[in-house]
Amino acid sequence: MLKFRKLWALQQLEEQQEKQQQQKVDPELVNRLKALKAEIEALQGQLKELKDRYQKAKEEVNRLELAGTNLRAKQSQLNEKIYGGSLQGKEIESYQQRLAQVNQELSQAEDEELALMQQRDDIRALWAEKKQRLEECTAQYKALHQTYLRQREEIKARATALAREMTELCEAIGEEDLKLYRQLKKRHRNPLGRVAKDICSGCHLGISFEKLKQLKYQEEPVYCNHCGRLLFLDLD
Ligand SMILES: [Zn+2]
Repeated sequence: MLKFRKLWALQQLEEQQEKQQQQKVDPELVNRLKALKAEIEALQGQLKELKDRYQKAKEEVNRLELAGTNLRAKQSQLNEKIYGGSLQGKEIESYQQRLAQVNQELSQAEDEELALMQQRDDIRALWAEKKQRLEECTAQYKALHQTYLRQREEIKARATALAREMTELCEAIGEEDLKLYRQLKKRHRNPLGRVAKDICSGCHLGISFEKLKQLKYQEEPVYCNHCGRLLFLDLD
């Protein structure tokens, strides 16, 4: 029954196709991509927040700088007044009190400004750190995504090649045998039994001597007396 060699080949290709259809892109790769995407989004959010905080700190530093300039101007005005010689005793005292007040405000503003400048620099350093991490993640994501696309393409290409091979094989098999095969497939997912060492590959049971003889010398299809599969004697 060598004429069923092609049907046997078809059955094998169909089994191969079933396995292939379950093939997916490496799930670890997919998980890594998802994790990177989540990290990238989180970093983008953090960077935006840091940028806002930096902007606020910068504005605050500017405000305090201006306040400092104004207070220093006031300070020198008061000093001029106090040491200018035009004031009387009581007036001097009052101006000195105002000067002490201005000195205190200035010192406070300067302390605040210094603290804010430190804060602003810390934000900038943190921002740079996050930005670098974002660049690393983005580069990693791009590279892995390329691998992902390549894997997907390879799976698709293998499926296409197999489908083409099956089409060509079906054409070579011819209508009549193909019809028989499709008919038998309603009963068995793998309707062909390959006989090797007098055993049917479908049910793993022994083939009778009579059937073996038929297989060797008869042109008609021979079926397994146990499972009913169409037998194919592989003489190789
Ligand atoms: Zn069988």
